[in-house]
Amino acid sequence: MSEAEYLTVQEALAAVLAGVSVLPAERVPLLDGLGRVLAENVVAQDSLPPFANSSMDGYALIAADLAGATVQKPATLRVVGDVAAGAMPNAEVTSGTAVRIMTGAPVPPGADAVVPVEDTDEAWRNRERPLPEQIQVTRTVKSGDYIRYPGEDMKAGQIILEQGHMLRPQEMGVLASLGISEISVIRRPRVAILATGDELLEVDEPLRPGKIRNSNGYTQAAQILALGAIPVRLGIAGDTETAVRQKLHAGLEAKVDLFISSAGVSVGAYDVVKSVLEQEGNVGFWRVRMRPGKPLAFGTYHGIPYLGLPGNPVSAMVSFERFARAAIRKMAGHTKLDRPTITVTVQNEIHSDGRESYIRAIVTPYENNYLATLTGDQGSHIMTSLVKANALLIVPEGVKMVPAGSQLTAWMFDWPETVF
Ligand code: AMP
Ligand code: MG
Repeated sequence: MSEAEYLTVQEALAAVLAGVSVLPAERVPLLDGLGRVLAENVVAQDSLPPFANSSMDGYALIAADLAGATVQKPATLRVVGDVAAGAMPNAEVTSGTAVRIMTGAPVPPGADAVVPVEDTDEAWRNRERPLPEQIQVTRTVKSGDYIRYPGEDMKAGQIILEQGHMLRPQEMGVLASLGISEISVIRRPRVAILATGDELLEVDEPLRPGKIRNSNGYTQAAQILALGAIPVRLGIAGDTETAVRQKLHAGLEAKVDLFISSAGVSVGAYDVVKSVLEQEGNVGFWRVRMRPGKPLAFGTYHGIPYLGLPGNPVSAMVSFERFARAAIRKMAGHTKLDRPTITVTVQNEIHSDGRESYIRAIVTPYENNYLATLTGDQGSHIMTSLVKANALLIVPEGVKMVPAGSQLTAWMFDWPETVF
């Protein structure tokens, strides 16, 4: 193997991100857009609310008619009509009259305010209750009170959501209210996952001497699913060129947008991935100044970006978090590529070798602060230390010792992207 290139994390990340592009858009049924990025501006075809309507069950009236009304000296109004939500008013309001109105019903002509039923002597909401002939109102209202005017929320012709915006449940409601049942969003990335190594068994195989099960294939499929992308599982390739080539071909046929493999990138590994990529694409082998996860390969296979992660399960997961996740989010059209980040106070003294280190930790809120405790053995084969962790603490490049009580940046695993 030729000399690997030494890169900082930021250099490696920049190179990976430069090698992937935002995917094209597709039109999908509205709900399929959840978590995805809008590929077009959304312009309101209608104003919302579309018509002036009541925000309360009550009586539509003329505010000036209630001048001076109190509990002791209520104003008396004649009830001339009734309007339910979904119906149109059957009467006009003139001075001295009122129309019973339900929440969401159109305000009748002539009325300029609504008074809630609670502030009348007819404090009933039941539509079946006969319409009273008159009501007594025990308060005043201002013109416009309890009326929701057209366009207060959205105005026809206005850009309501911009291209690049991520769709959450509230965006679904806005789009539905505008009558949009299909939406143009960035396609979900299809990501191939390949495990390499003669020692690997499928999950349902019994252990045999010298063998371990392919755990990376599952961690990575889950990481891809959690990103809203589509994992294409290529399974395990033994350490032969033929095996690797055959699996990668299956990925080509599945029309993937990115290949991710684990193992076979460390210096001294029996490196078949490298020779396959050199024949059918191109690849750079890097030593990233990062811990865990030093070895990394990046290139293309038949023109499709290829990211080779280290094999050790913790290194594989952390390098995925650092490089693959950012690449997949970029492809999916997101602009915020990193995990939500907070500043925490570390409870342990941390030692590093000067590489940028990603330390497994449990972060808990305490008073106005977040405290971080390491999850124990930081070996790159200790998967259970990832299970205990809800964060990765980042010890910057060049720092060899972090005293207890110091502040560090933490990447929060389980927080949604919209937190920060
Ligand atoms: P390598 O990069 O091939 O030297 O692999 C580094 C370490 O990761 C070795 O201990 C491998 O057995 C382990 N490893 C490689 N691939 C996987 C995998 N898919 N699942 C679990 N462990 C793996
Ligand atoms: Mg190997």
